[in-house]
Amino acid sequence: MNGKTIYLDNAATTKMSKTAIDAMTPYFDKVYGNPSSLHSAGQEAAEALADSRERIARCIGAEPREITFTSGGSEADNQAIVSAARIGEKKGKKHIISTAIEHHAVLHTLNKLEKEGFEITLLPVGERGIVTPEQVKNAIREDTCLVTVMFANNEIGTIQPIAAIGAVCREAGVPFHTDAVQAAGHLRINVAEQNIDLLSISAHKFHGPKGIGVLYARKGFRLTNIIEGGAQERGKRAGTENVPAIAGMAAALEEACSRMDENAKKLSAMRDRLIAELSKIPHSVLNGDAENRLPGNVNFCFEGIEGESLLLLLDDKRVCASSGSACTSGSLDPSHVLLAIGRPHEIAHGSLRLSLSEENTDEEIEYTIGAVRDVVGYLRNMSPVWRDLVAGKKEFITK
Ligand SMILES: *Cc1c(COP(=O)(O)O)cnc(C)c1O
Repeated sequence: MNGKTIYLDNAATTKMSKTAIDAMTPYFDKVYGNPSSLHSAGQEAAEALADSRERIARCIGAEPREITFTSGGSEADNQAIVSAARIGEKKGKKHIISTAIEHHAVLHTLNKLEKEGFEITLLPVGERGIVTPEQVKNAIREDTCLVTVMFANNEIGTIQPIAAIGAVCREAGVPFHTDAVQAAGHLRINVAEQNIDLLSISAHKFHGPKGIGVLYARKGFRLTNIIEGGAQERGKRAGTENVPAIAGMAAALEEACSRMDENAKKLSAMRDRLIAELSKIPHSVLNGDAENRLPGNVNFCFEGIEGESLLLLLDDKRVCASSGSACTSGSLDPSHVLLAIGRPHEIAHGSLRLSLSEENTDEEIEYTIGAVRDVVGYLRNMSPVWRDLVAGKKEFITK
């Protein structure tokens, strides 16, 4: 990627920090033992593993033994949900509560369980993209074995009232999982104070390496292993631990947490500038909540255009953006998140997500504002749909 590229797709993945790279390097060719080996080379790696586990636990208010390393956020989500389901079904509890705007790692795991006979309640989120603790409370039944609600949404950036939802679950005695992949390193997480029993994290969303993540499980909660093999990770996740990646993740998380406030301040200033300026484009609408929002998330729909063409033309102008989820791009279905907040198909197709990092600059933001304005104008000029809208043959959905 050349130096002039403006990278605004940090919700898809981030650039690794120098700190993370430096923390990983020794574990490729110096301390390369297998942490399960009894010799000194192995024990050195085991020490690095223990140290990383402790540091990560500290960042989220957990205990080291409550941390299980996984291959990333998706695996952590899968394992958390499947574990709760296995515990539940033994007690005849086969009802799970979640939301309509979860990541596919959660939704597709729930689909799988539904085919096994579990009943899934997906709570609606309303136009702001937020679920309330009352909704969760009202949905909990005698046979509910899990509530899983994401901490912050990867597409529209909305932040859920996690501590309050956790309190509702705690009171009802129902395990509470949160996919905190977009939150970790960006928002304060404390599993004890926020009443969280299970939590998923992925390193590559906070300037750590790809392919590594964490499943936090409150002590006493019995995880089911979804990968069979050796006795690594207290028998809960087989496979030789990815020591370099784990060391990189610990360093990245510590760094992100120590700079959280200053980063959030910088990001939200750039975010708010983008939101203020892009709102001025006629027939545009901000997706997600204006207040309860990730500091680096901007998401708009522009009526009368296709998100795909918008992205390609922005790319020509060196701006790397997204239409929402990296997982749905390439398919022609509009985002399930935008549909869930009530955007009709016609405008859900014209979405744009800009997700920022603290490395972005004010100059880049100003350039991007101009680029989006130009590209939206250009595409509308060519759009038959836009022509019909302007001619009054069709009604505008947006203001
Ligand atoms: C990126 C992401 C995931 C998946 O994490 P991977 O480490 O890429 O598997 C899960 N949930 C959310 C909210 C995400 O943003």
